[in-house]
Amino acid sequence: MPDAASHLPFFYGSISRSEAEEYLKLAGMSDGLFLLRQCLRSLGGYVLSMVHNLQFYHYPIERQLNGTYAIAGGKAHCGPEELCEFYSKDADGLCCTLRKPCNRPSGVALQPGVFDSMRDNMVREYIRQTWKLEGDALEQAIISQAPQVEKLIATTAHEKMPWYHSNISREEAERRLYSGAQPDGKFLLRERKENGTYALSLVYGKTVYHYRIDQDKSGKYSIPEGTKFDTLWQLVEYLKLKPDGLIYFLKESCHNPNMPAGELTLKGRTSCEHQTSGHVTDPWSCSPVEGPGKSRLLPMDTSVYESPYSDPEELKDKKLFLKRDHLMIDEVELGSGNFGCVRKGVYKMRKKQIDVAIKVLKSNNEKAVKDEMMKEAQIMHQLDNPYIVRMIGVCEAESLMLVMEMASGGPLNKFLSSKREEIPVSNVVELMHQVSIGMKYLEEKNFVHRDLAARNVLLVNQHYAKISDFGLSKALAADDSYYKARTAGKWPLKWYAPECILYHKFSSKSDVWSYGVTMWEAFTYGQKPYKKMKGPEVISFIEQGKRMECPADCPAEMYKLMQQCWTYKWEDRPGFAAVETIIRSYYYSIAAKIEKGPEETEEDKAKAACP
Ligand code: ADP
Ligand code: MG
Repeated sequence: MPDAASHLPFFYGSISRSEAEEYLKLAGMSDGLFLLRQCLRSLGGYVLSMVHNLQFYHYPIERQLNGTYAIAGGKAHCGPEELCEFYSKDADGLCCTLRKPCNRPSGVALQPGVFDSMRDNMVREYIRQTWKLEGDALEQAIISQAPQVEKLIATTAHEKMPWYHSNISREEAERRLYSGAQPDGKFLLRERKENGTYALSLVYGKTVYHYRIDQDKSGKYSIPEGTKFDTLWQLVEYLKLKPDGLIYFLKESCHNPNMPAGELTLKGRTSCEHQTSGHVTDPWSCSPVEGPGKSRLLPMDTSVYESPYSDPEELKDKKLFLKRDHLMIDEVELGSGNFGCVRKGVYKMRKKQIDVAIKVLKSNNEKAVKDEMMKEAQIMHQLDNPYIVRMIGVCEAESLMLVMEMASGGPLNKFLSSKREEIPVSNVVELMHQVSIGMKYLEEKNFVHRDLAARNVLLVNQHYAKISDFGLSKALAADDSYYKARTAGKWPLKWYAPECILYHKFSSKSDVWSYGVTMWEAFTYGQKPYKKMKGPEVISFIEQGKRMECPADCPAEMYKLMQQCWTYKWEDRPGFAAVETIIRSYYYSIAAKIEKGPEETEEDKAKAACP
């Protein structure tokens, strides 16, 4: 996960105090010369290192519980960048204002932090074990949910460490440490019976020493007089590097004999049961629009994250054509189109029943229309991605029917226009990031969508989007980079790139253009693009080099990405691999800033408010 400061040229990553001083010396030691580095002690914290009167000053910047950043005693800021900007205008207690950034010399890369790779591995393992995911489904869960999962695990991560022995007595700790070899630095962490606090027990010179771990009012952990940490596992990792007041540094963990290898036993979260039998509950009903305090449902908690056929038992039955008597069709209409309507239903599989959406052709359907739907089915049959509506199969009975996974939240544009007040911009970024993951998958598989628009992005819930409507989509031949339409049809011109309209050429790059328009629809909360202009007017508007304006309250970074998607020449336009990377890094940077830490509860807030 990129650091919230990784884009800043004066951020060095995890360098030591003395290294920081070396860089400042090299850059000339002028008054107000400064750089930013990662703080080892606090999760997401920084240190501002600066020069005044040929002296060095180091100010720790702490990430607060509410996600803001502040130098002790100073004002809170929403990010490290904003904080530095503030102190460049107002010293507000620092030795002087920040005057000159000491930028990383060319060739000097960001120094990854001690916790960075460990954190990545923990996120990976947590997702793998909590949701039992493997392969692509695992990779995509990591990409789309890293910020949420990271917060989820940070506070409970110690519980799955081999050195964590939960609730054992001091005597039992000694017994465990004295059994077997007793090298210096052999240690364990235990919960103290008395009051739920913790203690470290450590072997040195064949003797066991016990250290109480204190927790201050803000919840930070430390050994008496020692450095403070947000989490117990950070404290332990740090004490492996430095004794910091202990008689010896932590070296070898004393394994908890009761900890099953590779098993996660994390408090505070049990993933929603995946459907095993009976009827699947509608995931939408778990969290329609989230209110304060409600825990959020991650895409992996829903029944539509993995294919219903990911279970090998169910896969045995996977065929393009479904049996009519396994399909129950409800009266409820989810939507309609020229082809007919989309109805709600339930499909009975071997071990489970799943909610489905059924696209039913009008009964008087002609062969051409049936062929169209079969083409759509053939395309969808080849796709399997968490951010794309999957097809379960087709059913030929009273009429031809396309049976799909249910995305009960409906189209993105309608959802956003009806919930404008409740959905923050960060939520829009999150959903558009998911759309980019789905589109990157299509691009890799050499499919062009040709109808990407907010109306064709369906929601499973407020935090989970899927691309749908493959009615115009094409699979490209292995060595083709575009599809050439012989004749123009009923096309969504406002979403089409110039080369589609002028030369009938469709590629993933033209889908990128449509993605830009979809972003615009999303950040305007469901407005119609190009106002009242007609198709041909839009074409001349684009030809004149004009583009839609930045939506109100749309972050500059996101408007910049839209503009990149609207690069006139497809050769110069980014592909989805690049688009996904850009929106991901922006999404991670704001997710780190705005999401509340997991430790802040309503109770904490109430406590904080008391005098
Ligand atoms: P069209 O080709 O006519 O645009 P779509 O595939 O976009 O058809 O479906 C039309 C409408 O039906 C959608 O806007 C949506 O409201 C509903 N719908 C389609 N697929 C699903 C689904 N998988 N889950 C829930 N609703 C769906
Ligand atoms: Mg549609």
